[in-house]
Amino acid sequence: MSWRATILTLYPEMFPGHLGQSIAGRALADGIWSCNAANIRDFAADKHRTVDDTPAGGGPGMVLKPDVLAAAIDAVADGRPLLAMTPRGRRLTQARVRQLAEGPGAIILCGRFEGFDERIFQRRAIEEVSIGDYVLSGGEVAALVVMDACVRLLPGVMGAASSGIEESHESGLLEHPHYTRPPEWEGLAIPEALRSGDHARIARWRRARSEQDTRLRRPDLWDHHGDDRVHPPSGARQKKKEE
Ligand code: SAH
Repeated sequence: MSWRATILTLYPEMFPGHLGQSIAGRALADGIWSCNAANIRDFAADKHRTVDDTPAGGGPGMVLKPDVLAAAIDAVADGRPLLAMTPRGRRLTQARVRQLAEGPGAIILCGRFEGFDERIFQRRAIEEVSIGDYVLSGGEVAALVVMDACVRLLPGVMGAASSGIEESHESGLLEHPHYTRPPEWEGLAIPEALRSGDHARIARWRRARSEQDTRLRRPDLWDHHGDDRVHPPSGARQKKKEE
C-alpha cells in the first residue's frame, strides 16, 4: 500500500512540483507514494466559483470560505490525517513527520490570501501545522515541505537504510558535520579522528561534535533533547544544564 498525499489547493498544477524529481520523484514513479491535488475552486457552489470573501470586521485581503473548504474536505476525507498549513499552527517536527510517514498518508489543505475562516477548524478535525515562524504567500510550498520530509522516510526511498535515522533532529540533536575528499583543501585538513580508521574513535568524535554543535547552535534543542525518551530525574537534568 503506497503512502497517499491528497492536496486541497487553488493551484493544483504546483504538485508534485519539485517532488517529481530526484529521490521523491523516483519513489513517485515507483509507486511508493502517490500525489493527488484537487482544486478547492471545484467545490464552490455559485456560478462564479467563489472561494473567498472579505474579512469580517474589515481589513485587507480575502478569507477562504468555510462552506467551500468543508465541501472540498468532505469529498476526500477518508480517515487519513487532515492537515492545514498555517503560520498559526503547531510547528512541524521530525517526530511528527515520522508519525505521518508511518501512517497511510495525509490530506493537506493549503491556504491563500489571509487564510481560512476559523470556523472550519471548529467543525472539522484539522491539525493546524506551521513550517516555521515566517509567512509564505500560500500553503503550497509548506505542503511540499511536509510531503518531502515524509516521503524520504518511506521504506525503499532512501538508499542506505540507516541514513534516515542518523540525521539532524532524529535524536533530538543536530547531526555532526561532514567532510569528503580532498583530505586538505584551502589549508583545511579533515579532522584527524575521521581519517584514523578507528571506528570507535570516529563514533566518539561524531557524538561529541553532535552534542557540542547542538549546545552552541541550538540551546533550545539541547535543553530538551532526550525529553521524549526516558525522563532523567530532575536532579540529573539540572546537572546537564549546568555543565
Ligand atoms: N494571515 C495569515 C497568513 C496568511 S499567508 C496569518 O497572519 O496567520 C497565506 C497562506 O500561506 C496561509 O493560509 C498558509 O496556508 C500559508 N502559510 C504561510 N506561512 C506559513 C507557514 N509558516 N507555515 C505553513 N503555512 C504557511
